[in-house]
Amino acid sequence: MVSVEQALREILSCVEVLEPERKPILDSLGQVLAEDVHSTIDIPPADNSAMDGYAVRAEDTHGASESAPRILSVTGEVAAGSISREEVKRGTAIRIMTGAPLPDGADAVVPFEDTDEVARKSSHGDLSQIGILCEAKEGMNVRGKGEDIAQGSLVLKKGTVLRPPEIGVLASLGHPAALVIRRPVVSVLATGDELADIDQPLPRGKIYNSNTYTIAAEVIRYGGIARILGIGRDSIQSLEGKIEEGLDSDMLITSGGVSKGDYDVVKDVLVKCGEINLWTVCMKPGKPSAFGVITKGGKRVPLLGLPGNPVSSMVTFEQFARPAILKMLGKSNFAKPSIPAVIEDDITNTDGRRIFARVVVAKRNGKYYARLTGRQGSGILTSMARANGLAVIPEDTREVRKGDVVQVQMLDWGEEVY
Ligand code: AMP
Ligand code: MG
Repeated sequence: MVSVEQALREILSCVEVLEPERKPILDSLGQVLAEDVHSTIDIPPADNSAMDGYAVRAEDTHGASESAPRILSVTGEVAAGSISREEVKRGTAIRIMTGAPLPDGADAVVPFEDTDEVARKSSHGDLSQIGILCEAKEGMNVRGKGEDIAQGSLVLKKGTVLRPPEIGVLASLGHPAALVIRRPVVSVLATGDELADIDQPLPRGKIYNSNTYTIAAEVIRYGGIARILGIGRDSIQSLEGKIEEGLDSDMLITSGGVSKGDYDVVKDVLVKCGEINLWTVCMKPGKPSAFGVITKGGKRVPLLGLPGNPVSSMVTFEQFARPAILKMLGKSNFAKPSIPAVIEDDITNTDGRRIFARVVVAKRNGKYYARLTGRQGSGILTSMARANGLAVIPEDTREVRKGDVVQVQMLDWGEEVY
């Protein structure tokens, strides 16, 4: 038996970070930047006003107060997007809107509420002058040129995941496109003579092929592009044909046909098609898996063979396929968020494997509690649908008792991978 860690190491050693592609910034959401981005401009490009008010010379307002306003002559107005032709000379002010470039000569902005503008307007007073009701300090309510991003500075480092704020930063630099690591194309192949297509009536003795859809959905969830190869029958010809179809993808994920005692031919075909190891991974659910590289006609594609049981295939996907996809995407954090939680059921570990128990985690009085989602059979897919985490019971723990604290790998932690 190989440990979960050994299996993961082996898998990660066979997948590479993919090459970069340039694409529109909005299409790059969630992808990893493949180059350093420097700014060719200052942001903001000029000193500008942070408030609606009056651009002044701070020294002209010394001693100003509500009872002793300083009266300045208003020589103009400047809105966001335009530039004042006037300069603020001694004893004058220019009416200014938020975001408008600060006129020459001004070094502070006094907001409307600290002027007598409203009073003047309501008494139909002289608007060619303004009373300043407080002392302005130099730089007050002024956003400095380059205070967000200085021209020439390194703004986003290679390796950064593009989230909405990074997309916005790229836009603020005037970049319509970004160089990012491309998304992996992952082909998904279900195997088994018992499987029926989901858009057909269910024949007796068959079950619908759900694995293709859970696996493809996981591929998409973690940032890959899923290519569905459909159902491979348990015959050499059918499987070889399907595997061939998957050869121009970045990874091939199969489900089913890798357990001991199967009379499935999947194992034989996989072994024949490349350097594939059949593993018994020390985990429950998900014991049998296959991994290696398919080689055909000079092509080498990593293949991950997941067990057929729906829960096993999902749990092994989480542990092995997800990190592989994240690595290909150029991401570096493969770990699921893991938290300590008080377990609310007894769990017995009968055969020394690492158990991934499906749990619902809830927070009560500042503590996390994890409750089993019901029967834990590896065919009970709804035990996954009800779960938001996997409680991890280590190989060497014989038993956990209600009230013990266990680590829970959170399947859903509000994290979005895009
Ligand atoms: P296998 O690993 O091929 O022996 O499959 C084990 C069991 O998993 C099968 O008996 C089916 O009940 C189930 N199974 C296999 N493949 C699928 C699939 N694509 N969708 C749903 N269940 C499956
Ligand atoms: Mg099978």
